[in-house]
Amino acid sequence: MLQTFAHYGCHFLLPLVVALLFFKSNWKIAYFIMLAGLLIDVDHLLATPIFNPNRCSIGFHPLHSSFAILFYFFLCIPKKSRLVGLGLVIHIVSDAVDCALM
Ligand SMILES: [Zn+2]
Repeated sequence: MLQTFAHYGCHFLLPLVVALLFFKSNWKIAYFIMLAGLLIDVDHLLATPIFNPNRCSIGFHPLHSSFAILFYFFLCIPKKSRLVGLGLVIHIVSDAVDCALM
């Protein structure tokens, strides 16, 4: 129960908080772009079983590997890709919180 709450809380509320704090004038667009970071969870479809609440995504799925995470951090540097990068980093942080709670 707590895990489910933490999972969705982080994945949806964390980008919202960041959008409201740092992108006040256009927080809706910022929030929407950062939510797109959730899309990297498609790599879960490659794994069996697709969803396993007791598995840590970090380091297990190809889009959650340390190489991919490094790439997400680099995406935060250029202004153009910053929001996408931020969304992806927030996603990884949320997944990491999940792992920590296991
Ligand atoms: Zn994930």
